[in-house]
Amino acid sequence: MTFQNTRDFAQELDRQDPLRKYRDEFNFPEVKGKQVIYFTGNSLGLQPKCAREYVDEVMDDWAKLAVEGHFLAERAWWDYHERFSDPLSKIVGALPEEVAVMNTLTVNLHLLMVSFYRPTQKRYKIICESKAFPSDQYMINSQVCFHGFNPKDAIVEIQRREGEHNIRLEDVLAKIEEVGDELALVLMGGVNYYTGQVFDIKTITEAGQKAGAYVGWDLAHAAGNIKLQLHDWNVDFAAWCSYKYMNSGPGNASGCFVHQIHHSDTDLPRFAGWWGHNKERRFKMEPEFDPVNGANGWQISNLPILSLAPYLASVHMFDKIGMDALILKRDRITAYLEFILKEIDAEVDSSFEIITPSEPHERASQLSVFLHGEGRPLFDYLMENGVITDWREPNVIRLAPVPLYCSFEDMYEFGQILKKGILET
Ligand SMILES: *Cc1c(COP(=O)(O)O)cnc(C)c1O
Repeated sequence: MTFQNTRDFAQELDRQDPLRKYRDEFNFPEVKGKQVIYFTGNSLGLQPKCAREYVDEVMDDWAKLAVEGHFLAERAWWDYHERFSDPLSKIVGALPEEVAVMNTLTVNLHLLMVSFYRPTQKRYKIICESKAFPSDQYMINSQVCFHGFNPKDAIVEIQRREGEHNIRLEDVLAKIEEVGDELALVLMGGVNYYTGQVFDIKTITEAGQKAGAYVGWDLAHAAGNIKLQLHDWNVDFAAWCSYKYMNSGPGNASGCFVHQIHHSDTDLPRFAGWWGHNKERRFKMEPEFDPVNGANGWQISNLPILSLAPYLASVHMFDKIGMDALILKRDRITAYLEFILKEIDAEVDSSFEIITPSEPHERASQLSVFLHGEGRPLFDYLMENGVITDWREPNVIRLAPVPLYCSFEDMYEFGQILKKGILET
């Protein structure tokens, strides 16, 4: 399709968009009395209007039933988390018993490393991408130190080539082969938070396992954004947060995945707690830990129901729409945004560089733009004029045209504001 940089054309794309009604199901902040153009759904998703009902339901049950809410609430609390299994497993391409919701993302990665990072004198190295999200760097570093190894030796980062913004698959595979039988774990972000690059999870997982390592994924920027087939790709474990593309609310619970092949492996150590105990016998308060057969066997504590409530609201919304429909719109709106950026770039004779891969299979709902020659004043101008984006040193803005609630007209409007901003700042 040939795009046009006009309001009429953008509105026509909106009319053709089967997901356009979902925009009205979200609360948008306002700037100068107008709904913002929201590009930071990769950082904190907008609030679905239905989230409040789910939270109110728990508040009402708590008021009316108190402790009895554990069993008598319509959505009983003692197994509230199990309502995620079906819809969430579809979002990440898993079996229902392979997913669980619990804790927060970095905590879950630590807990999963208890099971899947068990270094020996010979096999102790971890491969990750360079410039990984800082929390992941701290986490991996502290795990390596905890086991008595030297991070400088044990952590192998895959570098970008000189002058390139993205990591090449061939370089990941070559590094896995090079580290070979010293490799204990590959742990990478499925979608890089900075560039938006989507990694080939299937191929990398296969290569890591061929070298004799476990392979796990941080899917913070992937869950609810890209098509995942964690079960079929044979991923060992994964975790994600729910407040980015999944709109569950600030700092909310994490989801995690443990492949079926590990569910009954009694050699895998894990940190246990009563919520991971055999469900039928949980309240018998027996001394011996007998884990639930599935990802829920990695649960520790009883769950924060109030925070799961808006996550459940969101998961139900995703279930209604389906990832396939979301991805169709995602690709179109991302392509339209790319087109708008190139148009404005030509009109103002500025020089933008989109550092996100241009290959559709290597990107998803984010374009990261290097604004050569522009600075912080442009970013401030955008924010003051109702474009919510974020700024990363040096001079990179990240734009996530989230398909659930962004419109094509937003992209057009953004282009106009950007152009004015460049001319005026
Ligand atoms: C957002 C993000 C996190 C955040 O971790 P929390 O434990 O939820 O604070 C971690 N890793 C990556 C890659 C992220 O994008």
